[in-house]
Amino acid sequence: MSEEFQSPRGFHDILGKDLRKFRKITSVVREYLKRHNYEEIITPVVEYAKVFERSIGEVTDIVQKEMFVFKDRKGRLLSLRPEGTAGVVRAYIQHKLYALKPYHKLFYEGPMFRYERPQAGRYRQFHQIGAEVFGIGEPFADAELIKLVSDILNELKVKATIEINSLGCRVCRPAYREALTQYLHNVAGELCDVCIDRKDRNPLRVLDCKVETCQTAVKEAPKVVDFLCEDCRRHYEELKVYLSKLEVPYRENPGLVRGLDYYTRTVFEAVSESIGAAVIAGGRYDYLVEELGGPPTPALGFAVGIERLSLLVEDPGKEEEFYFVIPLGDVLPQALKVAQNIRERGKVAELSYRRGGLKKQMEFANKIGADYVVIVGEDELKEGVVSLKDMRTGEQVKIKPEEI
Ligand code: ATP
Ligand code: MG
Repeated sequence: MSEEFQSPRGFHDILGKDLRKFRKITSVVREYLKRHNYEEIITPVVEYAKVFERSIGEVTDIVQKEMFVFKDRKGRLLSLRPEGTAGVVRAYIQHKLYALKPYHKLFYEGPMFRYERPQAGRYRQFHQIGAEVFGIGEPFADAELIKLVSDILNELKVKATIEINSLGCRVCRPAYREALTQYLHNVAGELCDVCIDRKDRNPLRVLDCKVETCQTAVKEAPKVVDFLCEDCRRHYEELKVYLSKLEVPYRENPGLVRGLDYYTRTVFEAVSESIGAAVIAGGRYDYLVEELGGPPTPALGFAVGIERLSLLVEDPGKEEEFYFVIPLGDVLPQALKVAQNIRERGKVAELSYRRGGLKKQMEFANKIGADYVVIVGEDELKEGVVSLKDMRTGEQVKIKPEEI
């Protein structure tokens, strides 16, 4: 196939077992979100680029390198969404949801776009399902959200470690930033070119750099948890107490900073050792609603990377048993009626589109994995019956169509 007619680099079709895993993940996550009374919201795939620049932060990999930005015909800068939170926050403010209820629990699902180097579990179009809670500042909300993440992982039988950290707030982060910048100046000789630039503009990002020399250079860097103000420290301590009470296993990772600037206080990731990456990630973003023009509203959320998680879940196999209806002879309308009968009772039936003898048809039924075969033959029909064969046991009976 000529390359120009293949899907673009980093953009994938999802089908077969990948799609079954995809659906399994979204149905489990949706089920858990439903039990927690989250309400779904569908936001556009495109927003003004400003929405993301303002939310995610100008000096982040996502905004600097990964966004698909383009101009519309009037010259306005738009971007395919690289993540879901910014759009949900924009919608929360635009529809003044804050005026309706003291707090809101929303979830979304859909494609996200980032111009990244494609590799296993990393695409340019990928899918997330995520949840956001608006209006609750208490650490119990953080704990409940992390518990929900942990329950989802258990339900999907995925082994991942939940790592947590606190990034502080407006009160305490400036002092930390100062201390970190100072430290980074002292080790500047070991930093990569990008981090040399980041160290003044966005020093926390340096902690997240994947370049080895940078990782070594920041080993001894000051830790944000040592700089937390009284309120942030209490928030973090209470979160840990709640997590223990809820029996959620977690590990503190003082180097966890996340790739987006909007986070405050709690951040967390569910990290899989076997793929060496996070499959679910989230945290608190208490200033974002305000930043985008809404009233001060504490908030938090998480996002599940569906393709990433797919690498770790088992193929559930095909869901429904199905009946394969084979017409033998001039009985197409009658056979269709038999198939309809089965469908009307909520079962899955496929009417064979092949013509030919019984042997050929049975081979075909086997090939496509039919659970039952219904043979509609001219002679049998005269007696008002059809043959029903259980493909696993090989057992075959004559039966009235309405009794299948
Ligand atoms: P990473 O460090 O792996 O790049 P991230 O911090 O950029 O992840 P988030 O913005 O937190 O990722 O997105 C949440 C989740 O979405 C990630 O944990 C991951 O599972 C998934 N994800 C992020 N980027 C991609 C991608 N390019 N392809 C597939 N999944 C992705
Ligand atoms: Mg990334």
